[in-house]
Amino acid sequence: MISNSPSPPVPNAHEVLELLEGKYGPPNMIQGRMSPIDELIACILSQHTSDVNSFRAFDNLRAKYGSWEEVETADPEEIADTIRCGGLANSKSVRIQEVLRAIRQETGTLNLDCLSELSDTEARDWLLKLPGVGPKTAAIVLCFALGRPVIPVDTHVFRVAWRMGFIEKKIGEGKAHDVLQALISPEIIFRFHVALINHGRQTCKAPTPRCKGCIVNSYCRFHSQLESNVPVDVNS
Ligand code: SF4
Repeated sequence: MISNSPSPPVPNAHEVLELLEGKYGPPNMIQGRMSPIDELIACILSQHTSDVNSFRAFDNLRAKYGSWEEVETADPEEIADTIRCGGLANSKSVRIQEVLRAIRQETGTLNLDCLSELSDTEARDWLLKLPGVGPKTAAIVLCFALGRPVIPVDTHVFRVAWRMGFIEKKIGEGKAHDVLQALISPEIIFRFHVALINHGRQTCKAPTPRCKGCIVNSYCRFHSQLESNVPVDVNS
């Protein structure tokens, strides 16, 4: 039977954040954890693998080579062997050297100190010109390394955001950065990012969200549709 449940209110990000932090606690990630160039290389290593494996690959790389200058000129096969535990080692070794060379070409150095002089938008646009750097990687560097009020949209953030009704799924992860950026207040954007990741990992899972008992289900469009017997898209 089709029920006539009312539509949920448009999610209020502050209220959602308060509830999520009440459940998962304050952010369990920190900003300023790495330099911008370290964060950028760590991002490349994190693609299509687990955090554990990518951190191990990053540590191996730092232990093997004394500087990014050494990585820039190293044998790509040797780099690949060093980061093998992170998966896709051959393509990642090539990508890392391409990025390092592009940074040197642009700045004459192998650091990203130039970003501190730029606005959030300018810095993002600068990063997006580097080979293989997309909106998520640019946002991670800005958010985590530079502490800018920018929201990286990973698979968890995207899934929770569209299920709850903050964004439409059809816009895709790339455009979701801009939409969420405009929607969420700068002063809570980092905490919001972390809270959605925690929620996506622990409750709003792909492909089966645990809606019953979800702390924010009264704010959630997906849950409202389920309750109203409206066909829903469960795919992440
Ligand atoms: S109610 Fe379900 S779909 Fe909505 S946020 Fe909670 S777990 Fe995710």
